[in-house]
Amino acid sequence: MYLKNIELYGFKSFANKIQLTFNNGITGIVGPNGSGKSNVADAVRWVLGEQSAKQLRGSKMEDVIFAGTENRRQLGYSSVSITIDNSDKKLPIDFSEVTVARRVYRSGESEYSINGSNCRLKDVQELFFDTGIGKEGYSIIGQGQIDKILSSKPEDRRDLFDEAAGIVKYKKRKSVAEKKLLEEKQNLNRVSDILSEIE
Ligand code: ATP
Repeated sequence: MYLKNIELYGFKSFANKIQLTFNNGITGIVGPNGSGKSNVADAVRWVLGEQSAKQLRGSKMEDVIFAGTENRRQLGYSSVSITIDNSDKKLPIDFSEVTVARRVYRSGESEYSINGSNCRLKDVQELFFDTGIGKEGYSIIGQGQIDKILSSKPEDRRDLFDEAAGIVKYKKRKSVAEKKLLEEKQNLNRVSDILSEIE
């Protein structure tokens, strides 16, 4: 599994549609300060479902949309799509190539798709659970993150080990099931209150 391609339109400094193609192996992106190298990494984070504007080095989600320059008007939406080679089937989906896309409008409305079919943020997150690629994964190590990992609380470091061990999806499912159980218990309590009132 590797990142084959990324397409950006209106994302941060990329006002025009651009496409970057990567080969299997190591690729370096070089360029002068402020030319948009980190914006490419932000785009990968974003398309994978990042919800924190701070993680994307902004103050609100609208900051990912091209804000305009002296000569060019701001854009109304931003879109990013990444294509991943999945011939080793590491992603739990029956396609040898997987394209994940996200689009956001200034109104805040957000859309996701997997291989061209609209989907929910949850579907994107579940696709990447335990692969190391998702939002909580370790495939994108941002500036200053190594220090954070070394000095953070043991519980935070544990999240990293959980992802590497492949147990995140079970932990998420467990917490959803526990929440449902709690709701059912509350319903049962309510029913027994009503029954005792009738009796
Ligand atoms: P460095 O080498 O200094 O880390 P870099 O190549 O990684 O720089 P980035 O941080 O990716 O550069 O890009 C910063 C540039 O992106 C700045 O010029 C900033 O004005 C521009 N930028 C960020 N958000 C937007 C936006 N919403 N609209 C237009 N330009 C933006």
